[in-house]
Amino acid sequence: MKSDVVMDTVMDVVIIGAGMAGLTAAKQLQHRGKKVAVVEKSRGTGGRLSSKRLPLPDDQSLTFDLGCPSFSSETPQFKAQLDKWLADELIVPCANQPEYYVGRERNSSITRHIAKDLNIHFSTRVCRLEKERELWQVYTESPTGEQLFCTAEHIVIATPPQQTYDLLPKGNSLCPLIEHIKMEPQWVLLLAVRSSTELKIDSAQHPNIKSISPEHVKRGAKPDDSVQYYQVQAGEEWSQETINWERTRVESYLLSEFEALCEQKIDIIVSHLHRWLYSLPSNTPIDNKENYLTCSEKIHLSGDYLATNQSRHGLECAYLSGISVAKQI
Ligand SMILES: Cc1cc2nc3c(=O)[nH]c(=O)nc-3n(C[C@H](O)[C@H](O)[C@H](O)COP(=O)(O)OP(=O)(O)OC[C@H]3O[C@@H](n4cnc5c(N)ncnc54)[C@H](O)[C@@H]3O)c2cc1C
Repeated sequence: MKSDVVMDTVMDVVIIGAGMAGLTAAKQLQHRGKKVAVVEKSRGTGGRLSSKRLPLPDDQSLTFDLGCPSFSSETPQFKAQLDKWLADELIVPCANQPEYYVGRERNSSITRHIAKDLNIHFSTRVCRLEKERELWQVYTESPTGEQLFCTAEHIVIATPPQQTYDLLPKGNSLCPLIEHIKMEPQWVLLLAVRSSTELKIDSAQHPNIKSISPEHVKRGAKPDDSVQYYQVQAGEEWSQETINWERTRVESYLLSEFEALCEQKIDIIVSHLHRWLYSLPSNTPIDNKENYLTCSEKIHLSGDYLATNQSRHGLECAYLSGISVAKQI
């Protein structure tokens, strides 16, 4: 092995991405005694299940779910997992929609819980994979370009398909299977407003707003009775058209539409706009009969986009894909 490698143990499996799929796979594999490392470009776990803390003017703060606002199960496998998380008091039924669930404090607590005891390297972006003498060399970005981070027998890439495609070595047999898969971009606006009465907002007919989730209601409690906070998801088509707009233009449009739906002038305390370049898949891979993809060179792909069908939602798909990919390593 090269002497300048950051982690000098050869891993059985390196997993790229600490979202639901990557962490579920890592947990299963570690449980079976495999030497596993997870490499994540962000500072924390969760990926599209992440949460965001916003400061309020009075030294308090509010935590919003930045991606997936709530989740449900269609399959017995994910239902059994939700029952376990319920028993462990990690999740609660949504107060306004009891067939859906949320993390008890925030949704990212779920991935933080799965991540306990795993070997995870945060703020570390994988930029290249190269095979040398039967082992994969994992290169990560460094201030000077790239560095050899570690070596492994198997690689699981658990990132959205566009990012996965960029990581696959040129000519790998998995490239044509995923290159046509599209993920929708999506703008999400988080906002807290002060109002003495509960706002009545119906966005169902709005052409450019997909949903408005009352974050202060779903966990059944709020820090201050007059503060209401919302996650506003822009529609996919409108997000696609405006994805390169100035952030201020997008934010002011969404705020004015929100205000119009409230049918009253609102007192906004704080707002935050997030641009998801990849939110949910709009199509699925060809020739994928399992919930993952794999090749003889020991690269395996996992993620929500590999386990989709009409009734399942994203988080469940990511979970099922993580379980399935781990089984075949
Ligand atoms: C706005 C929004 C609303 C949603 N609503 C719902 C809903 O109502 N119900 C539902 O079930 N699902 C919903 N989802 C989808 C759900 O959040 C996802 O399906 C699920 O979280 C995907 O998990 P994943 O592990 O497949 O991918 P991700 O969560 O995307 O995880 C991939 C991880 O890989 C990391 N990564 C990427 N590239 C690299 C690299 N080069 N090196 C290292 N790390 C890298 C990323 O930082 C990320 O943490 C929503 C998502 C969004 C964004």
